[in-house]
Amino acid sequence: MTDDRVSEGYAYFTRVLDRLRKHHEFFSRAIPLVASENVPSPAVREALASDFGNRYAEGYPGERLYAGCKWIDEVELIGVELAKKVFKAPFADLRPISGVVANLAAYTALAEPGDTMVALAIPHGGHISHGKRSWNGTAGRVRGLDIIRYEFDYERFNIDVDGTRRRIEKENARPKIFMLGASVFLFPHPVKEVASLASEYGAAVVYDAAHVAGLIAGGVFQDPIGEGVDVMTMSTHKTLAGPQHGLVVSKEKYAEQLKSVMFPPLHSNHHLHAVAGVAIALAEALAFYHEYSSAIVRNAKALASALSEEGLPPLYGELGYTESHQVLIDVSKFMGGRDAEVKLEEAGIVLNRNLIPKDYELKTDYKNPSGIRIGTQEVTRLGMGPSEMKEIARFISRVVVRGEDPRKVGQEVAEFRKDYNKVHYAFTNLTEAYKYVEIR
Ligand SMILES: *Cc1c(COP(=O)(O)O)cnc(C)c1O
Repeated sequence: MTDDRVSEGYAYFTRVLDRLRKHHEFFSRAIPLVASENVPSPAVREALASDFGNRYAEGYPGERLYAGCKWIDEVELIGVELAKKVFKAPFADLRPISGVVANLAAYTALAEPGDTMVALAIPHGGHISHGKRSWNGTAGRVRGLDIIRYEFDYERFNIDVDGTRRRIEKENARPKIFMLGASVFLFPHPVKEVASLASEYGAAVVYDAAHVAGLIAGGVFQDPIGEGVDVMTMSTHKTLAGPQHGLVVSKEKYAEQLKSVMFPPLHSNHHLHAVAGVAIALAEALAFYHEYSSAIVRNAKALASALSEEGLPPLYGELGYTESHQVLIDVSKFMGGRDAEVKLEEAGIVLNRNLIPKDYELKTDYKNPSGIRIGTQEVTRLGMGPSEMKEIARFISRVVVRGEDPRKVGQEVAEFRKDYNKVHYAFTNLTEAYKYVEIR
């Protein structure tokens, strides 16, 4: 009986470990282009495997309700100091365990259920955590906020501030929060203009930097706090190549409100191994991200031009395609976005299908949109530059434009990837980027 249980348990155990290893093998042969992901440094992975992940430390560092936090406190305070420095903010809190929870903290600190928030609609690039109740969005469904959408200018792929002002007046609304930031995010948002509109209502401006935190840390894209944002939330694992976690920085004025919602309402433990990983990622950001984030944007522009030359022109070429890590492409002349995603994955090129502006008029099903979204942050971290972007553009067009057999292209993709297995923009990289580390 016991033996049976042991062998049954062991069979499950080995199945899980086998799949973990296969995932690592898959990524070490693939071109990773999902815009919301990254590969952290070996030092961050070391932090994730540490004993910090087995401990509790409720409260802000120095005000804990648990014993045994001596070193944990020091690490979290180092992380706080780094976050303030890197994001040029007077206050930082490393406790949100994800970007969504960081947003929930901002909503809870700055508004009450029934209050109004102005946010980008999801088809305009807004994130589901900014969404209204009828969309099952976090802001509406969990915090009970009413959401008014920004007026959107498709030609500039950006917020139309004057149109938004008219919409708010027409709806006779009294917004409490103006949310900025997006998941499809090509060009900087008009922070100053929105902050000036918000001040007419005594509303707070929140900037969700989940996608662009690494670019901001490197001093490219924009400087939200400097331009007038009150609270900036983020994920720590997209262009900022840390562990999966969240982070909030703000003006001093909001420090106590944010601290009081982080604990006890929103967290008990706050994933201390990830906090250590965030601190390491921020130290790397301070040292290397000016170079790294400039290279990410340069690569995004280079990839976009190369795709154009390969017969797959990305959107907004007239605006230089992008100022961020993202490139947005209409593939509908050749296939649906879903088919493109599936075929490219067969070729070892991993990216997402995405709604593009024309889908809003066509009312395309979001499950099979007309476009794909690409991010250059992870391939840049692997040390690739503009000449590698040309090769990637060619691989993509062979599958999407020329309809070549994805498995055949995949073999060449795996060959191409062999030269790029180390993490760059880090203090040390002795372990390969996707190496499966066994400590059993
Ligand atoms: C990814 C993303 C989030 C969610 O972050 P998680 O860390 O996955 O919770 C929030 N906002 C925006 C704009 C995002 O793109």
